[in-house]
Order: sequence, then C-alpha cells, then structure tokens
Amino acid sequence: MKESKSISEQHVCDVLIIGAGAAGLSLALKLAPHAKVNVLSKGKLSEGSTFYAQGGVAAVFSDTDSVDSHVEDTLIAGAGLCDEEAVRFAVSNGKESMQWLIDTGVNFDTEIDEQGNTQYHLTREGGHSHRRILHAADATGSEIENSLLSAVRKHQNITLMEGYNAVDLITSRKLNLPANRVLGAYVWNRKKERVETIKAHFVSLATGGASKVYQYTSNPDVSSGDGIALAWRSGCRIANMEFNQFHPTCLYHAEARNFLLTEALRGEGAHLLRPDGTRFMPDFDERAELAPRDIVARAIDYEMKRLGADCMYLDISHKSKDFIVKHFPTIYRRCLLLGIDIAHQPIPIVPAAHYSCGGVMIDHHGQTDIDGLYAIGEVSYTGLHGANRLASNSLLECVVYAHASAKDIINRLPFYKERKFADIPDWDDSQVEDSDEEVVIQHNWHELRLFMWDYVGIVRTDKRLERALRRVQMLQQEINEYYSHFKVGNNLLELRNLVQVAEIIIKSAMERKESRGLHYNLDYPEQLDNPQPTILSKRD
Ligand SMILES: Cc1cc2nc3c(=O)[nH]c(=O)nc-3n(C[C@H](O)[C@H](O)[C@H](O)COP(=O)(O)OP(=O)(O)OC[C@H]3O[C@@H](n4cnc5c(N)ncnc54)[C@H](O)[C@@H]3O)c2cc1C
Repeated sequence: MKESKSISEQHVCDVLIIGAGAAGLSLALKLAPHAKVNVLSKGKLSEGSTFYAQGGVAAVFSDTDSVDSHVEDTLIAGAGLCDEEAVRFAVSNGKESMQWLIDTGVNFDTEIDEQGNTQYHLTREGGHSHRRILHAADATGSEIENSLLSAVRKHQNITLMEGYNAVDLITSRKLNLPANRVLGAYVWNRKKERVETIKAHFVSLATGGASKVYQYTSNPDVSSGDGIALAWRSGCRIANMEFNQFHPTCLYHAEARNFLLTEALRGEGAHLLRPDGTRFMPDFDERAELAPRDIVARAIDYEMKRLGADCMYLDISHKSKDFIVKHFPTIYRRCLLLGIDIAHQPIPIVPAAHYSCGGVMIDHHGQTDIDGLYAIGEVSYTGLHGANRLASNSLLECVVYAHASAKDIINRLPFYKERKFADIPDWDDSQVEDSDEEVVIQHNWHELRLFMWDYVGIVRTDKRLERALRRVQMLQQEINEYYSHFKVGNNLLELRNLVQVAEIIIKSAMERKESRGLHYNLDYPEQLDNPQPTILSKRD
C-alpha cells in the first residue's frame, strides 16, 4: 500500500460494491431498502460481460423439467469437479431468482401455448437435457443489464460511481489493526486522475472474469481479473483458475475485437476449414463440426499451431444467401461491414477465452476468507461450474449469490452501523511521478497476453507452463517496479492485476497432474480417480 501524506477525497457508505454487472446490480437492489450502497464501475456503467451475454439464463420453469435434472446436467458438464451442494443451492434458487429479475423489469421472451396461455419461451442449449433457458431474443444480457440499471437509478440509497477503478482493498490487517476485516478500498477517479478512499462496513467484489489475460477473448476490456488480484493481495484463497472456457469461433479481424460467431452456424451446417480450404474436424471427432465446444476449440488450436497459421475459417457459403440473412442477420451485417460477405466467402476465426470458471473462494453467503468481504458473479468460485461451465449457468449464479449475500449483509449490518469507521490513511503519491514511458506498459500488456495464449491456452504442456511462469515472474518484477515509481492509471492498474492473475492461472495449471474438463495437458492426458479443486493461497 502506498501510504499517506496528501489529502484526498474520502467517501463513506454501508456497503461498497465493486462492479455493475448482473451480480453487482442485483446485490445493490436487494440491499438498497436497508443500506447506503455505493456501486463502482471502472468504465461505462453498462460495460461488462453481462451486457454481451447472448443465449440466456438457465432455470427450471417448465413442468416437465426438474431441479434434479438441472443438477445432473451441471454435474456432468463439470466433469467430476463440481461441489454438489453448491450446484443444488444455485439450481434450487434459480426459479425464485429469475422471478425476481422479471419483477424488477426484465422482459424475457414469451409465447402462447396450445391452451392460449402466455408462458415463457424456453430454449435448449448444449448439455441441457430440457428446455430451460429464459432469454430475450439473442440479446439477453443487454436486456438484463439495462433493466437492472434503470431500477438502480430510481433508488436514493444507491450511489453509482462511474469511472472509478478499485485499486486495492483496505483491511485491518494491512493497517496493523486487530482481526482480519475489510474496511474499504482505494479507488482511482478516472476523471480527476487521483486516488480516493471509500470506507465501508462491507465490500463485495463483483468485478467479472479474467479472460482479458488471453490474446483472443470474447469478453469486453473490463474483464481483467481485478477482483481476483485484489482478493489475492489481501490474503483470500483462489480456486480452480486453470479452468478457462474457450469459445471455438470468434471473428478474427483487426477492426473487430470480441465478436462471437454463434455455435448455431455450425449447427446449421457451417464447415471449419484450413487456410488451404480443406476441412479438418472429421479428422478429430466423428461428430465433426458438431463435437462439443472444448473438442472443437482444441482442434482449431492444434491446426493453428501445427501450420503456424494466424486463423482458421468458418464457411457457410454453401447455404443460400436468403437462408443466411434470415437466420444470422447480425453476423451477416457485421461481417459485411468489415468486407466479408459470408454468403460467398469463409469467415476468418480463432478460438477465444470466454469464461473463468475459477475465482475467489466463497461460502453459500458469498463471504470470502476476509470478514466483511464478499465476492459474487464470475469473479467468485462457488463450486457450481467444476471443471467446465454448463451453458447459461453463469448469469444464474450471479443473481442467486447476489441475493444470498444481500441476506447475510442485511442480518449483520445493524451491529456495524453502531460502530465508528476506522481511521484510514489517504493514498500518498507524493513520491511518484507521471509515467514518461507509456510504451513499456503497452509492450508488457501485449507480451503477457500473447504468451498466455501460446503457452497456457487451450492445450498445455509442462514445458510450456514452466516457460510461461518464468516470463510472468519477470514481467511481475518489472511492473511492480513501475508501479512503485509512477502514478497509477487504468492501463497500469489492469496490467498489474492481469499479471497477478496470469501467475495464479499458470500455478494452478501446474498443480493439476491430469487432463479434465477445460484443462488439457499433453503430459497428463488421463483423468485421476479422486479429483480435487486446485486451491491456492498466498500464505502457501
Ligand atoms: C459474449 C458473451 C456471451 C455470454 N453469454 C452468456 C449466456 O448466454 N448466458 C450466461 O449465463 N452467461 C453468458 N456469458 C457469461 C456471463 O455474461 C458473465 O459470466 C456474467 O455476465 C458476469 O457478470 P458479473 O456481474 O460477474 O460481471 P460483469 O458483467 O463482467 O461486470 C463486471 C463489472 O465490474 C466492473 N469492474 C471490474 N473491475 C473493476 C475495478 N477494478 N474497479 C471498478 N469496477 C470494476 C466493470 O466495470 C463491470 O461493471 C457470456 C459472456 C460473454 C462475454
């Protein structure tokens, strides 16, 4: 912690929520009748993975479906590593949580059944044995984010702080006070370019995932693993970070980052091609392009590495233009704007980091190892996803755990409201100067994401992991030095966190001496009999 001399602004609230996605906003709304809540977003308020979610949210709504069936599908996807109690907890709270979203203003698609009654239209996705995905066309995430934001804006007790990066948590241990309790956070005010202090009785991390650690990702820029790094630096345990889900087909184009090409394209007959136009999926799996996500992503990665190619291709041009425009209007338009007519030519693609299954360890109340510090949504590890996430279970997890932690905080709040806030020193940047070499940050950022992609991506080996660890530790040294000499800014803060999270991912991957779910190591292709989650702690 850079200790204080200069005076900067101090904010005070009952609960500080770091993150304004589905998890953070759901928590804020539940708390607002009981507490003064500050919600932080480092970029635009709506910018987070939630906004970009397409498919929908899984919950048991149909009479022919059951909690047991949803639990079983989740356990199968998780490849032997789910915590069954956590799975049952999330799934059995699913319907109530979705009803709350609906009551809050989220409009999921409906249909008229044969008896003329209106009911929710449920889709079915890979790995689900029933129709159980609530959705709003193919833009469920923006419907949820916008509805929650407009509900939050109506609440007097909620203060939205847009453009504030949480830099580090403040804990009693860091200030050499008794116990190990969270006291607030230092936050960087982007507009005023200064670090301010927020004192709070409770803090919740809702900062989303860490997929930005990889060169190619479907996630927005904010997914830089900040919450995981903040929690780690404060002494929380982090679990299962070796399990990164990769989406097989993201558009490869200099002017289009993060654009997903839905799996429905392959479902409708699109072929995956090498640069020379030959198909390769039949060489890898008898289901060819319809093999599960992880198998397709691994095959693409294998061919790219074998041929030294920048990308592979996805081709649906053998279908009629009418069919393509009718079924995939958004993709057709987007590609055409970039000069790719998908009715006549193949689309350049790469697999892309999509979801972080691991994160900050929490209990069923969302409480971490530090008293008063909670973590919810993609930043957390609940045990729900195990070694692989079942589609559409992540938004479910965001809302269920937001509600569980709200309940816990509301119960505990009266005791803390009676107590004074601790004295917290202001941030001191009197000894640091403005960075004169922004290029160093840019270069390190690029290098990190590239070697994580090459060595810690879809297919790993011990040698690649060792190589990556050496590089990440060198980068860490350089960045820490930089951090202690220069004033902070968004790029430096994110890079510092990304490098920390990269090291945790590499070390977690090195701990796992088997291949399971999303973690594939050529040196250990088999599964062990008694799999356990990988838990890392700074104290170890
Ligand atoms: C393209 C895409 C499609 C997806 N489709 C689905 C789907 O159909 N169904 C499903 O269940 N899941 C889907 N997912 C996953 C799901 O969207 C995410 O897991 C979920 O939205 C995460 O929500 P969250 O609230 O945890 O974080 P996010 O929505 O990512 O929000 C993170 C918030 O934290 C803030 N933040 C981060 N760091 C800091 C910091 N240091 N200081 C201040 N603020 C900070 C950000 O500004 C942002 O407000 C998809 C993801 C992507 C990328």
